[in-house]
Amino acid sequence: MGVVDTVSWYLESARRIFRIRREMNRYLDEDSDMSSFLTVDDGRLWLAGGIDVVPSTDPMWGALIQALVGAHGPAVIKPIQDVYREVGSRHGKLLKYLFSPEQQGRIFDFYSDIGYANAPYLLAGTVEDLRRIEDVGTEIRDDDELIVAPIRNASETHGVKSIGLDLTFPCCIFEPCFAQGVFEQLLDRPVYMEEKRCEGKGDDYCLYVFGLGERGRQAVKAFTSLSEEVTFPEDAARDTVSPEQVDDMLRDYVSQHPSADEMLELGSDGLELMGVPTFPFLIEAWGSIITGLMDTLGQSAIRSGHDTYRELGIRHGTAVSDCSPEEYSRLITLWEHVGYYTIDEITVDGTSVTVQELLEHLDNETAPTFSIQITDSMTARGLREHRRTTVYPACIFESAYLEGVFAARHPRDISVTEKTCQARGDNHCTWQYHVTDD
Ligand SMILES: [Zn+2]
Ligand SMILES: [Zn+2]
Repeated sequence: MGVVDTVSWYLESARRIFRIRREMNRYLDEDSDMSSFLTVDDGRLWLAGGIDVVPSTDPMWGALIQALVGAHGPAVIKPIQDVYREVGSRHGKLLKYLFSPEQQGRIFDFYSDIGYANAPYLLAGTVEDLRRIEDVGTEIRDDDELIVAPIRNASETHGVKSIGLDLTFPCCIFEPCFAQGVFEQLLDRPVYMEEKRCEGKGDDYCLYVFGLGERGRQAVKAFTSLSEEVTFPEDAARDTVSPEQVDDMLRDYVSQHPSADEMLELGSDGLELMGVPTFPFLIEAWGSIITGLMDTLGQSAIRSGHDTYRELGIRHGTAVSDCSPEEYSRLITLWEHVGYYTIDEITVDGTSVTVQELLEHLDNETAPTFSIQITDSMTARGLREHRRTTVYPACIFESAYLEGVFAARHPRDISVTEKTCQARGDNHCTWQYHVTDD
């Protein structure tokens, strides 16, 4: 990156932090509700005026966990947890310097509001004596050893349940580790975390136990379960939307032609895309996952999700496979509109074509190879947020998803190779698709 790029990156970052701070202040002071807090601008969804958000459904997060665990075993959970602890720590620093202690406690309501998890209350104290607290920012005492959080419908457990995955180990990643990093900053102590129960392995709720300081570390080990019965507010529980319902909604979408903006709304359970509860997958968080995988498992780990994303593309593509090329092309542009990628150009035999023309080529079997030039894929943007580059092309999620979408419409096999990639430092990403005879 040159000097000019670096300077403009810092300026843009400063502007974003200013916007986020202003908007977050309004939210945390309860001057604005969540719906005024979400904006669709420039074809993308923004939180607080400056946080770039890609809505990603819970089933997709579940599928990602499934793919990673399938490829690397349960040990893969730990390095990703470390990444989220780091993300939480960064947010915690911002919270500490930008917001008052009263406002800091509300940040957890914020994540609950946008649909990450249902956390009815927190407890703090010692193993023998826990009391309910409202606010981590103001109510933790020096002699407290534990913070205990009963949780239902965390994004991971909702995700693995919605794809019917049964696990034998606790699987929560984002919520407990993000909170762990935030607590470390706000309380200025090392914080240890163990998940004592998890819905992902069949428990009726998840139980995150945080130990504060060295005594807390021992206390976490000694802690077994809550003596009280936990009741969760019913209205915050998310219904599981079946894959068939999602397919129906996709079909409605491609045939009724609403704009992408209309498909996004704030429902009672947080942000919804086509009526499906989604949790906003921050571009930065996506970059963190990729970065964490590369650092702990090597760059080839990026590829572990390929088959899962292809499957997802096939399922979405199959749901609308009997639609016209014009309608089908709306599936491809839907994901462009919500911010997964921007399509610059599609070429068949060196000739530029529209999405619709490409689909007609596929229907007529007249495009043995085609290329799609992309800028600003979610992966490339996520890595840019972390100022990281890769050695190999990295946009597995986006290119494999489209591979599945195309394969669903074509009777023969389709495979993709990413030839150039912005994450590697190229000017854009180029995904080359090959149609092969079985
Ligand atoms: Zn859990
Ligand atoms: Zn790429």
